[in-house]
Order: sequence, then C-alpha cells, then structure tokens
Amino acid sequence: MRNLLLLPFLIALPMAAQTPDWSKVNDEAMRHFQALVRIDSTDPPGNETRVVDYLKKVLNAEGIPNTVVAKDPARANIIARLKGNGSKRPLMIVGHSDTVRVDVSKWTFPPFSAAIDGGYVYGRGTRDDKSDLFAALMTMVMLKRSGTPLDRDVIFVSEAGEEASTGPGIEYLIAEHWSEIDAEICLAEGGGVRRQNGQPVYSVVQTTEKQPRSMLLISRGPSGHGSVPLRTNAVVHLANAVSRIAAWEPPTRLNDTTRTYFEKLTNLSKAEDAARYRALFDATKSAAAREYLAVNSPIEYSMLHTSISPNMTQAGLQVNVIPSEAQATLDVRAVPDEDMPASWR
Ligand SMILES: [Zn+2]
Repeated sequence: MRNLLLLPFLIALPMAAQTPDWSKVNDEAMRHFQALVRIDSTDPPGNETRVVDYLKKVLNAEGIPNTVVAKDPARANIIARLKGNGSKRPLMIVGHSDTVRVDVSKWTFPPFSAAIDGGYVYGRGTRDDKSDLFAALMTMVMLKRSGTPLDRDVIFVSEAGEEASTGPGIEYLIAEHWSEIDAEICLAEGGGVRRQNGQPVYSVVQTTEKQPRSMLLISRGPSGHGSVPLRTNAVVHLANAVSRIAAWEPPTRLNDTTRTYFEKLTNLSKAEDAARYRALFDATKSAAAREYLAVNSPIEYSMLHTSISPNMTQAGLQVNVIPSEAQATLDVRAVPDEDMPASWR
C-alpha cells in the first residue's frame, strides 16, 4: 500500500523535465503524511471533510484543478484531475480518508501524533489508508510540477467512508459523479511492493477481494446467581463454540490469482520457503506448510481459504449474575467464489 508512492515515481522519472531533489521531496511527502495522520477521521463518524480541506489547500497551491463533492457536508470527497493528451483512457489513484476506531489506552504513541520512532511513523491510518492518500497526493504534485507529458488523464480521489459506511463515499461517487471518476485503471490500496533489506523483491497486484460477512453466534441458558455455577452457563457454551470455530481450518480453495501467487513465490524465495510454498500443492505435505503460514505469515495463510475471526464478544450485566445469553461476532471473509449459503448448511 505504502509503495504506491514508488510506482508512479518510477514511471514518471524518465519523462520528467529535470530530476527532482529527492531529499526535499521526501521531506515534503513526510510533512503531508504526518499532517494527514494527525487529522482525526475515525469512522464513525468520519469527518473526512477535515482531510479534504487539507488536500484542497495543497492542490490549490499547486494549481491542480479539483472539486469537492459531498453527499454529507461533513463527509466530503475530493476529485482532482491532471489532463493528458487523451490518447489513452484515465488512470485513477485513490486513497480513503477515514480510519477505523482506536482504543487510545493501548497506544505507546498517541494514535493521532504521527510520532516518528526508529524509522517508523506511528498513528491510526499510517497503513490504512493515509499512506495511499499522501502518496497519491504527492504523485499529483510531482506530475504537475515536472510538467510530465501524460498520455492519460490522472485522476486523484480522496474517498470518504471506506471503513464503515460506503454511502457518502464510493457509492455516492459512482451514482452522482461517475463521469469524473471514469477510468481505465485504478490504483488503490491492496497491492504493493515487498522489500527485503530495503530492496524490492516483487510487486503484488490485487485482482479481487474476499466477500466480508459478519456472523452472530448466540448461546442461551438459564440465568442464576453467580455463587451457584451452572453447567448450562451461556458464556461457557459460547467460549467453547468460539474456540472450536477458531481451531477449525476451512478447506483450502485456491483460485487463479492465489495459485499463481504461490507458484511465483516458489521462484522468488529462499530454498526453504520455496519448498514450503511448493508443498501447498502437494496434499501429502501441505498440512505442515499451512501450519507454518498460520503462525508465521497469517496474511498468506488467510489467502488459502475463507477465514473466520471472532472479534467481538458480549455477555453479562454484572459479576454476580449468570447471564442468560452470550454473543460473539465473527468476521467471515469468503474467497470470491465461495458459495456462502451452501458452506453454512
Ligand atoms: Zn483501507
């Protein structure tokens, strides 16, 4: 995600009128990144207009044409466009301006501080998705300043409401502003460049997404006094159910993208890792490889199948009362061709 910054620059550099002073560019980029992280745009409620106000100032200062469009005035989107010669259809670069909620007490550095420590920037949204937002912004700025001739229009979009409520964001943009965002190619979060020791090893491209589905698990039992434990305690039953679900490994279901991904990795990895990726395709060896990924590379483990993560639990009103009900919410992410109704029968 963060490496969107790199890709457009690599493309733009050979065409640019003169080589930019990269240390200055880095300083400027970091200033924008920190400024964006410092704007609290937690969704809900979002307040993405605060982010848009910042972006607009930068775009205006560079003379980059832009429009602010909003279904909800507090949750604006901004669309900016640099004109190409029209020989190719537009390229769109997108970042979303909202972030997920945060438990401030768990943070060493305050989540909206954008504090730098040990070469890392700390803050909510540093990876999702203000990284893409500032990279896209800087791409626009650099393209404009360098006067790079473009075959395609480059469209920059700051999208509201990606995390919890797409209504004021992408749904509104598609419904009401399609002609302004109509593009042949869109670069957004999801792909990126994997590096080792600072060196790029390979790039990843996301072709589609899993289908998110939340599921509610409810257990019920008789209520009672906490001084008299019951075998029928709803909390205990729920805990057992959650731990069984967490221990269950959904069947591996590779598709063209994930199969190609793991196959290519066998050529790009150290011998030991390559053997492990190869083992994924061998039924007699795959269990150990999957287990390794589950522990050491959860993101790749999750690519193998539909995933289930129990993320919320709720039960009880006070300590001395056995509750009559307990609930767990499961975050289910189905592989794109999963037949959800059939899988859950
Ligand atoms: Zn995101």
